[in-house]
Amino acid sequence: MAPQDKNTPPPLPEPLRVAVADSHTHLDMQEGSVEEALAKAASVGVTTVVQVGCDLAGSRWAAETAAAHEAVHATVALHPNEAPRIVLGDPDGWSRQGAREAGGDAALDAALAGIDELAALPQVRGIGETGLDHFRTGPEGIAAQERSFRAHIEIAKRHGKALVIHDREAHDDVLRILREEGAPERVVFHCYSGDADMARICAAAGYFMSFAGNVTFKNAQPLRDALAVAPPELVLVETDAPFLTPAPYRGRANAPYLVPVTLRAMAEVKGMTEDALATAVAANTARAFDY
Ligand SMILES: [Zn+2]
Ligand SMILES: [Zn+2]
Repeated sequence: MAPQDKNTPPPLPEPLRVAVADSHTHLDMQEGSVEEALAKAASVGVTTVVQVGCDLAGSRWAAETAAAHEAVHATVALHPNEAPRIVLGDPDGWSRQGAREAGGDAALDAALAGIDELAALPQVRGIGETGLDHFRTGPEGIAAQERSFRAHIEIAKRHGKALVIHDREAHDDVLRILREEGAPERVVFHCYSGDADMARICAAAGYFMSFAGNVTFKNAQPLRDALAVAPPELVLVETDAPFLTPAPYRGRANAPYLVPVTLRAMAEVKGMTEDALATAVAANTARAFDY
């Protein structure tokens, strides 16, 4: 793709005949207004989006946006890379010493209390994204990340909301902590990144697996193998926009209107018709987030 194409939004895909939801997006990180993004998505059959919070301010915004738009549901959380920043301080921002003086663990507890408050709102359908990220967070942040993950599991269970998991290079530890804490009734692995063996474990536990645009990438055969064994009744689709733009638009900005590109690639992997997979995914997302 020519470099000048990088700034051009990918074209509208052919509309889906069966409407689905983008199960995980970040509208607050995308170009243009919420109304524009929703209209563009709806024009190709993506009529619902789950707006995901990553910090307290973003979670408040998600809840407000969901309250204002029928098509938007919210999830609220401190991202697994955010929790260590709250406890230890941002190495690129204020000093770690300063963060400790400002509160450390107490600061995390205060932020979690804010998430807990938002979790009670009716338009907040899930707690996430939470989980573990061993790629971005180093060993010094693991304790804070785990404490935050466990606290989010507790909040999800107490409020009866879905748990939305971010798992980056931390499969075994995420599954272990879910076992130790006892998983909430509804668990969604967002941007599912495990292999076929893990998909079997998730299937046995009844965890939803949400696939993002990276399932279309050339080097993602293990992910397609996982999708192939995932039961159709546990499969969701997401953009994680503005990240993970599906092929052939890799490198350009992602947005909910590109869900059909990923869904069509998924249907091929599963050997299902586009309509059959869309019907399953629509029902699964509504069940996962109880809307
Ligand atoms: Zn994530
Ligand atoms: Zn995300």
